[in-house]
This record gives sequence, structure tokens and C-alpha cells, in this order.
Amino acid sequence: MAGFKWRIGPAVVGCVLSWAFGHALAQPAQTAGVASSTPAVRVVASFSILADWVRQVGGTRVEVDALVAPGGDAHVFQPKPVQAKKVGQADVVFSSGLGFEGWMSRLLKTAAYKGRHVVLAQGLGDQALIRAEADGHGHAHPATDPHVWQDVRNAQHYVNRIALGLCEADPAGCDQYRRNATQYDLQLQALDSQIRAAWARVPAADRKVITSHEAFGYYAQAYGVRFLAPQGVSTESEASAQGVARLVRQIKREGAKALFVESVSNPRLIEQIARETGLKASPHRLFSDALSPTPEPAGTYLQMMRHNTDALTQAVLAQRP
Ligand code: ZN
Repeated sequence: MAGFKWRIGPAVVGCVLSWAFGHALAQPAQTAGVASSTPAVRVVASFSILADWVRQVGGTRVEVDALVAPGGDAHVFQPKPVQAKKVGQADVVFSSGLGFEGWMSRLLKTAAYKGRHVVLAQGLGDQALIRAEADGHGHAHPATDPHVWQDVRNAQHYVNRIALGLCEADPAGCDQYRRNATQYDLQLQALDSQIRAAWARVPAADRKVITSHEAFGYYAQAYGVRFLAPQGVSTESEASAQGVARLVRQIKREGAKALFVESVSNPRLIEQIARETGLKASPHRLFSDALSPTPEPAGTYLQMMRHNTDALTQAVLAQRP
């Protein structure tokens, strides 16, 4: 959070969407006033999911680059000089925060960045955050689980903050950003309902999944699913042999059967667990920390959440005795 230079109070964040909704209804559509070839705002987003949201809110007025590209792992990312240059030229930098992008403050310093840096998790409130458990091996990892976007209600907070950040950087485009954010928020609300409806078909006792790292804590809490994982909230620290053995015993004890490989994680651990439990990993990968490099199956946040939910619920239902 060291590089954070600009903030909006939580009270403002809370009421903007309702205000924006009324405003969007009252205002006829306006032209952007900027040729589509010349973006009004240059944005750098720390990773692909944030970049998608900036595109949804910014539309043609905004040019956005993701530092960690689709398919990349932000936990172990190392910025290249060309990316420091991009940051140096940006009008706004969006990051998620909560220790997810541990490399960000040094990158902003290297780039001698003087513009706005908006940490999107700010304002979420302590009750919305999940404390991460220590792994007991002295590995440095975030004290809070940073994967907040796995709960769609937190995505609504992020999109709201992105609209505010773009409005500050480009007041002339503000009406458009608010309209786009309001429309996208309706899609997020629909997505949240779809995920709840999909899990409602699965008996609570069967909602158990095994995956690579603890990236689904917010999804678990929001949608009532139990996730077991050999690796902690960061992919940086290796799972210990005892940790894997403990997990294998837990899987057998709890009767969890749906086993998944994540797109950003090494499949080796899940293959080992498959061998030791006799379970077969799902052919579908889960997308936790990055979108897919191709449009399918998870080219956008909405697609990612639908893909994960379909893959998870189908696997769990298929494993029922
Ligand atoms: Zn992660």
C-alpha cells in the first residue's frame, strides 16, 4: 500500500452506484467526444481480471495494459523493464492490494510513477475480508486472503472503484464510465444469482472440492462450498510433504471426490494427490487468479465465474454416490 496516493472514503463508494443508476436513467446517451483511436486515459492494471473490468467500464475512451497477462501467476510475477516503462506512461494504475501484488510498490518506484494508483480492495471493510492461516513454515505470505474477486459482491465494489478512479482521471468521460459501470453491475448481480442457483441444486453435504492453492476462500464463503488445498493463499511457498499427507487423510475422511487443477498452478501436486487418493482430476481447469489467454473458456470475468461454477457443480454432482 506504500505507493497509494489517492483514496475515496467508503461512504462515497457505498452510495455511488445508486446515484449512478438514477443518473444514467435521467441522461440521454452522449457521444464520447474523443476519437476512438486516441484514448483519453492510459491505464495499467496489475492483472488480467482487473484489466477486463477497466475495459468494461472504460470502453473506447480507455487503453488498458495488464502487467500479469492472462494465464500468468501474479504471486510470482517479475516485472520487465518494458512494463516499468508502460507504468511510467500511465495516467492511472489499478491494483487489487491485500498483498496480492507484492512487487507493485517497487515497480512504481522503479518507474518513477507520479500518477494515480488506486488500490481497489480499499474500502471493502474488515468483515468482508478473510484472514489467511499461517503455514507454519516461516514463509512470508499475505496476512489476509487476497483473492477477494472470487465473491461477485466484491467484484461490484471493484467496478465501482474503477469508475470513480477513471472519473478522477478523466472528468469529461465520467458520465460514460458511470453508465458502463451501472450496466455491468446489473450483469454482476445476474451472475451472482446464477451461481447461487447452480449450487442450490447440489446438496450441502456434497459441496466439497479439492484444488491446488487456497484461492477460493471467498467463493467458498459466498456460495457455501468447502475447498481443500495443499498450498496456501500464495503459490510462492511450496506445500510440505506433511501438509500433503494431512490433506490426503482429510480428503478420505471427508469423502471429497471432485479434484481440480488450477490454470496458474503446477499440476504436479494435484497429480500426486490423485495417485494417493485414487481420484481422477477433472478435465476442466479452474481459473482463480487470471483469465484464460484465449476467449474460451475464461476470457472475461463473467465467463471465468460461469466456467468455474459449471465445472465445479458438474464434477460434484457426478461424484455423488
Ligand atoms: Zn492465488
